[in-house]
Amino acid sequence: MKNKGALLVISGPSGAGKSSIIKELLKQIPNAVFSISTTTRNKREDEVDGVNYHFTDEKSFQKEIEEGAFLEWANVHGCFYGTSLKQIVKFLDEEKLVILDIDVQGYMLLKKRLKRYITSVFLTTKNIEELKARLLLRQSDSKTEVKKRLKNAIAEMNYINRYKYLVINDDFKTAFAQMLNIAHSALNKRSLIDSDKFIQTWKRAKKAK
Ligand code: 5GP
Repeated sequence: MKNKGALLVISGPSGAGKSSIIKELLKQIPNAVFSISTTTRNKREDEVDGVNYHFTDEKSFQKEIEEGAFLEWANVHGCFYGTSLKQIVKFLDEEKLVILDIDVQGYMLLKKRLKRYITSVFLTTKNIEELKARLLLRQSDSKTEVKKRLKNAIAEMNYINRYKYLVINDDFKTAFAQMLNIAHSALNKRSLIDSDKFIQTWKRAKKAK
């Protein structure tokens, strides 16, 4: 039986450590790939176009929306972010574990379309003070940007119970171990995706001579 891939959706406030955890997951799970989103936000110094994101302008983003290029898209912190439909379909066909770093709006949309494939995790800090400290330490965003991100974080926290798992990134090692377990369970879950087909084959099987 040919299994399809699986989607591991990771959401949570900016600064909670999603990128660092994803980087480690990609190193440790050979079959895992990252869904590179398209965004209109400015590139940060440590980011690479085509690796972290596909950076684009609003005009091109709008054009892609019209062409139906996105599986989901959202306006987050005043910029546009979208998940490429083509990329996800390709990865699922290749039976990959696709890791998506998307916001709560994107997750809600994705759940409507691809629920069977999704394992979802909300990753956050132990409290807002810790989040603020991390955002300020990161120094990649201006003070106004940090304020905006903190405000959004409070709103996003209300969606926690829509996710299957909650991981608190207080100690990185512990949080990563939890995430690795969840990623493996997402990979195991995919064996159920083609269950109808499996049942048919199972019923038709002949005794080996
Ligand atoms: P950042 O600007 O810090 O990289 O990301 C800001 C927010 O946008 C994060 O919450 C991240 O999860 C979210 N995000 C990144 N890519 C996508 C996407 O393709 N779709 C949606 N809906 N959100 C995204």
